[in-house]
Parts: sequence; C-alpha cells; structure tokens
Amino acid sequence: MSLKSIDSVFITGANRGIGLEFTKQLATSQNPPKFVFASHRRQNIQQLQELSLHYSNVILIALDVTDDAQINKAVDEIKLRVKDNGLNLLINNAGICYRATLNTITEEILLQHYRVNTLGPLMIAKSCRPLLQQASAIHGISAIVNISSSLGTFSMDVTGGIYAYRCSKAALNMITKCLSEDLAADKIAVVALRPGWVQTDLGGYGADLTVTESVRELLKQIKQLHLCQTGQLICYTGAVLDW
Ligand code: NDP
Repeated sequence: MSLKSIDSVFITGANRGIGLEFTKQLATSQNPPKFVFASHRRQNIQQLQELSLHYSNVILIALDVTDDAQINKAVDEIKLRVKDNGLNLLINNAGICYRATLNTITEEILLQHYRVNTLGPLMIAKSCRPLLQQASAIHGISAIVNISSSLGTFSMDVTGGIYAYRCSKAALNMITKCLSEDLAADKIAVVALRPGWVQTDLGGYGADLTVTESVRELLKQIKQLHLCQTGQLICYTGAVLDW
C-alpha cells in the first residue's frame, strides 16, 4: 500500500494527541488523501476545526466510539462522500487510560476501558467492512490499523497494575488477530501498531517520543503495509513484536 493509493482514511479520536497528528500529517502530505475523516466527541476541537478550514480534505465527523448509533451515522456520512470508491484505511486510535491499581480498580473502570479501547474498534471495523471491501476490490488492499500498546502484550512490560488499560489492549490485540483471519479473503489487512511512549495527555509529557516523531514513523509503517503482514503487532520502528 502506498499513500498514493490512499484516497480516504477514517481516524477516531482525531481532536488531540496521536489522532490529531495523524490528521495533520495526512492532510498536509505530498499526495494527500482525498478524504481525511477526522472524528471527535464535540469537545476540544479548535485545532481540528482550524485544520479543516485550511485543508478541505479534512472532514469532521462527530463520533463517540462507544455509541453504536453514532458509529452507523458516521459510516453513513463517509459512504455519502466516498460513493463507490470505498474506504482505504481505518485507524482505530481513540483510547483511554486510567492508571487503576489493584486497590483502585472497579468493575466500571474495567468496563469503560473495554467499551472505548476494545468494543469501539471492533464495532467500527464491523460497520466499515463493506466500505473497506469496496476499496480493496479497486486497489487490491485496504487496511484496519488498531493503535495498541506494549502494555497489552504478554511478551513485554508485564509489571502489574494498570489493569483496565492492559486488559483492554490485550483484548484489542486478539480482536486484531481474529479480524485479520476473517477479512483476509476480502484483502483487508488488519494490524496492531505500537506508537511507542508518546508525549500526549495519555502518555504524559515526559515520554520518549514527540507526537510528530511517533506519527511520522507510524505512517511509514502504514505506507509499507502488505497483506502478508496482516495479523501482526508492529512497532513504530518497524519491528514485529510478540503478542
Ligand atoms: P490522548 O489522551 O491524547 O487522546 C485520546 C483521544 O481518544 C482523544 O481524541 C479522545 O477524545 C479520544 N477518545 C477517548 N474516549 C473516546 C470515546 N469514547 N469516543 C471517541 N473518542 C474518544 O491519547 P493518545 O493520543 O496518547 O492515544 C491515542 C491512542 O494511542 C490510544 O489508543 C492509546 O491507547 C494509544 N497509545 C498511546 C501511547 C502514548 O504513549 N501516548 C502509548 C501506547 C498506545 P476526547 O478529547 O473527546 O476525550
């Protein structure tokens, strides 16, 4: 896949952090997509609004990823724009992380993480499937990118704590694997990407990478994506990680 062939991309949680930076870098790239569907929850959207004023390919869409009706409405809006060309790329980026410990974890905190970090991406992938199928029939490939974390793996960094976030991302990793199997025949590549530890509200501002650096490297990986990589967890450096 090359960005040249990405006519349309749908990004969740696009109003700040990594999602906003994806929107910026895609909208301002040399061969920009025709449509950058940047979704948000109607709050803290000044930067996104400014971007859409300067770049007509940035289309704002209201979406809380935990709301099925909003998901269907968002996908209908995308369908109206892309028509029979389908959707080339879905980036499931929206996420939350409350650093709950064994003493502070509650059922509601766990469920909220699953709703946002796990169920949202799955329900959005399900709704976008026909659009992704249309694009892959034209271009030979379309893709779902789930923004995951080393904190959701068994192979790295299991130090205890952060229960809700770790479990929701581990489940997102399994969803990535299952989707990769179910969508292989449709030529829809499904991967989990690890952005590294990034300076955002979620990552904290003492993190290793600026959001610009992380997203630049993530986009490199996305541009190079091949169907044979489906079902992998890929680091922003390009390394394939163990689950
Ligand atoms: P931020 O906290 O900066 O941004 C989170 C984004 O998710 C915001 O746009 C937020 O919107 C959105 N969001 C949260 N809940 C919902 C919801 N219910 N519906 C729609 N959007 C929602 O986080 P990052 O940019 O750092 O994180 C982006 C992704 O990267 C997440 O999936 C995170 O887990 C992952 N990640 C980040 C790392 C890091 O170090 N930063 C490391 C590893 C993974 P709103 O403004 O409305 O709250």
